Parts: sequence; structure tokens; C-alpha cells
Amino acid sequence: MNCIFCKIINKEITAEIIHENNEVMVFKDINPLAPIHHLIVPKEHIQSITHIKDNNQEIIFKLIFTAKKVAEEIGLKGYKLVFNVGREGGQIIDHLHLHLLGGWTKQSDIDLMPHPKLDK
Ligand code: AMP
Ligand code: ZN
Repeated sequence: MNCIFCKIINKEITAEIIHENNEVMVFKDINPLAPIHHLIVPKEHIQSITHIKDNNQEIIFKLIFTAKKVAEEIGLKGYKLVFNVGREGGQIIDHLHLHLLGGWTKQSDIDLMPHPKLDK
């Protein structure tokens, strides 16, 4: 499958991996939109939130729980968790991923939501 995140998971291309277990991988976003910008990714290829099914409940919880654990480890007291869903939601990579964004110090930066460019 020609999926860049599957290639990272299979170690065919490199990424700065923060955490990994049998089901989930966390790596640094290559184009960070915040002082801390990590991606929490299921190892199973699921295209997007649009494509999740009833039997994906556990993995969705694990993505969120992993984000919380990683944020604690880094010492983030607050952060944003973002799923971009579909092109019109700013999703560029068609492998489900949760953005962990944080580390801002100025309130004006905290209030600013990232606005990914639409690829149209
Ligand atoms: P999205 O717009 O939600 O699909 O987010 C995809 C994210 O993946 C973007 O923030 C990209 O900067 C990031 N990204 C793309 N390629 C890589 C890569 N090879 N390693 C790490 N992050 C990547
Ligand atoms: Zn994939």
C-alpha cells in the first residue's frame, strides 16, 4: 500500500519516533504547527474517522489515551487534540492520525487554531 504513514510504521522511511507499541505509534510531525506537534497513529491502516467502524472503539480510545500519556510525560499541562477528517477537514494523509499540539507560552498563540491549507 502506498501510504506514507504505513511506511513509517514499517520503518521503510524514517521519522522521529516518540513512542511505539503493538498497536500505536507516536512520531514528530515533520512540519510542526506548534512547539510540540506529535502524531498518534494506529498501526492498522484506517483511512479516517469517516471510515471507523463499531469494532474500532478500542483503538480510538487508545489513540486518545496515548496522547494523554505522552503529554504527561512531556509535562504539557494543556494541549489540543485534533482529528482532521477528509480533504474538507484539512486531512492530507489518508491514514487516521490524532494531532497532539501544545507547548505554547503566549495566550494569543493558544487561541490560534491551526488552519491547514485546502489542497484544491
Ligand atoms: P493531516 O493534514 O491531518 O492529514 O496531517 C498530516 C500531517 O502529517 C501534517 O501535519 C504533515 O506535516 C505530517 N506529515 C506528512 N508527512 C510526514 C512525515 N514523513 N513525517 C512526519 N509527519 C509527516
Ligand atoms: Zn497507512
